[in-house]
Amino acid sequence: MSAAIDNMKPSRYTPTNEAEARLQLAACYRACAMEGWTDLSSTHISARVPGTDDQYLINELGVHFHEMRPDSLVKVYLDGSPVGGAQPPANPAGLTIHGAILQGRPEVGSVLHTHTVAGMAFSALKDVEIKPLTQHSVRFYNRCPAHEYEGIALDVDEGPRLQKDLGPYEMLILRNHGLLTVGVNPGHAFNVMYYLEKSIQVQLAAEQSGAAQNPIGAESTAQLFETYPNFYERDWDGVARSVALADAAFEEAYIPWSEPTEAAA
Ligand SMILES: [Zn+2]
Repeated sequence: MSAAIDNMKPSRYTPTNEAEARLQLAACYRACAMEGWTDLSSTHISARVPGTDDQYLINELGVHFHEMRPDSLVKVYLDGSPVGGAQPPANPAGLTIHGAILQGRPEVGSVLHTHTVAGMAFSALKDVEIKPLTQHSVRFYNRCPAHEYEGIALDVDEGPRLQKDLGPYEMLILRNHGLLTVGVNPGHAFNVMYYLEKSIQVQLAAEQSGAAQNPIGAESTAQLFETYPNFYERDWDGVARSVALADAAFEEAYIPWSEPTEAAA
């Protein structure tokens, strides 16, 4: 595969304390719900607790994406054990997956996992290579690792294989299961998932058409790839505003944060 994209850089959306991480992560759950990337009480998104290298936040089991709030999140160590005593339960498979990825990639601040129809359908195909069919999909062309299905991820022994299969990349196809993306913060992981999900939807639609395909040529794929790392903050600005405007509890906290500062604009 080609070299991994180098986009794990701090941004103004990178949380600097636990309260900001909770707000960012809860907003990311709400944003995923707006996109329809939900599966009842399944799937999960995590965010590392700033200032620690062994703690992260994840959804309380049973709280659905559209109702997630900063205090709906539980705080656990990388091995899945609760921080600070008893807490509501999290999804056991989520703890296996997120703990392994965050342990294996110290520069990653957030991991996002989905069970969308397109993502699961694509994950069930023999060939899960993303083709350079559109501007969106070029980002993942030749940078599309996959992880074999091992059953529901309850065995911590799967962790090293998840780490190895993800490698330095920003996404992973979980075969017969779904999709996974990583980012420097939840908004970043959301952004990667947005383009991955759309790339997969388009590829499936193009293949279902039965017509001959016309992939983007090598010169253009290289040029397009170089333009990708820089605009996720611009995308997240609008997504965050949508989340904030849909819930007054988010509006007060999030709108000021999502306004670009002069230095960052
Ligand atoms: Zn899953």
